[in-house]
Amino acid sequence: MAATGSLAEALVCPRCGETYSIGEVHQLCECGSPLLVRYDLEKAKDTLNRNSFHGRGANLWRYRELLPVQDDRNIVTLGEGYTPLLPLERAGKKSGIPHLYLKDEGIIPTGTFKARGAAVGVSRAKELGIRRLAMPTNGNAGAAWSVYGARAGIEVTIVMPEDAPKITRNECAATGAKLYLVRGLISDCGKIVGAGVKAHGWFDASTLKEPYRIEGKKTMGLEIAEQFRWQLPDVILYPTGGGVGIIGIWKALKELKEIGIVEGPLPRLVAVQAEGCAPIVRAYQEGKKESVFFENSKTVAFGINVPKALGDFLVLQAIAETGGCAKAVSDEQILAALGELAREEGAFVCPEGAAIYAAAKALREEGWIREQDKVVLLNTGAGIKYPDTLNVSVPYLEKDAAL
Ligand SMILES: *Cc1c(COP(=O)(O)O)cnc(C)c1O
Ligand SMILES: [Zn+2]
Repeated sequence: MAATGSLAEALVCPRCGETYSIGEVHQLCECGSPLLVRYDLEKAKDTLNRNSFHGRGANLWRYRELLPVQDDRNIVTLGEGYTPLLPLERAGKKSGIPHLYLKDEGIIPTGTFKARGAAVGVSRAKELGIRRLAMPTNGNAGAAWSVYGARAGIEVTIVMPEDAPKITRNECAATGAKLYLVRGLISDCGKIVGAGVKAHGWFDASTLKEPYRIEGKKTMGLEIAEQFRWQLPDVILYPTGGGVGIIGIWKALKELKEIGIVEGPLPRLVAVQAEGCAPIVRAYQEGKKESVFFENSKTVAFGINVPKALGDFLVLQAIAETGGCAKAVSDEQILAALGELAREEGAFVCPEGAAIYAAAKALREEGWIREQDKVVLLNTGAGIKYPDTLNVSVPYLEKDAAL
């Protein structure tokens, strides 16, 4: 079936319920909460079913009706989405989770799932006539928004910690973004961008300060549902920094359920963090509704080094409502898991993706994941984006050597 148009109808505040027009530029709600896109799901019930997406392009735009872009001409795309869902038989056996799957975002443009958020976010920015945007980043988001910004002809300003993966610097610089480094954390970069936004009138594309990035990331949830032929898995583990991905997957699955395309309980969503930066895990353990700034955060999984997330309350709600949990793993566990997945499965994942495999193993040992559970690991990026994470030593041969 050919896609009809977007069914987006309004922006809604998940905290106070205020609504805003989809046709205007908005950032946060007046109450300070992120805004979420609401779709006309009643109309979707009449127009969408399990077969609607069949035969459409193998990219995230196949879910056209559930995306916010109004006019097809504003779509900025590099062919992102519809990444593979790979069974992990050997790793599954090894970890006692026989039905273990890897949703691998490593093959997407820019090598991380941040391309999904950027494709939809930049498309909407273009649609709304935005000429200049800015964001703080731990690297991957900045790279993706620079790449898509270049394609859209939008000026992009990026501020990142100097410790962010170097390759992301190059991506920003190569695509012509205005790039600045800070000797500090993403939270420090965020303050600088916030002041720049006020001074120069840039559009603030920070995590969850604009409502459309999450709509792009949401498509991971739509794809997981479709790739399992609309029979939802039991558990999805997600490496959580700003939390956009996990909130997006939750939103996507709730939308599908409301439309009637999926049934039954939603998968238990697991927010995985590093022990060196685990504000959401702490809040979860203490039964809090929001997290507290995590001091002196540090981890090899750079993409999830976010000491305080604007959408933390939504992540905690997603966990609570789906019967999920939050789990922290050490850098040691992350590196061991990275090596194990690469050797057992040929899956060279990013450290953030390795963290979820480590967490799955730990949760299985604790019995939280049961043997018969169908479990999805969401690998958010390619291992090759982090050339310095692994310290390998390789023997040299003389030119005339024999093996
Ligand atoms: C940004 C990022 C994350 C965290 O994503 P959020 O949706 O902000 O929680 C995880 N992994 C990688 C590789 C990232 O770049
Ligand atoms: Zn509000």
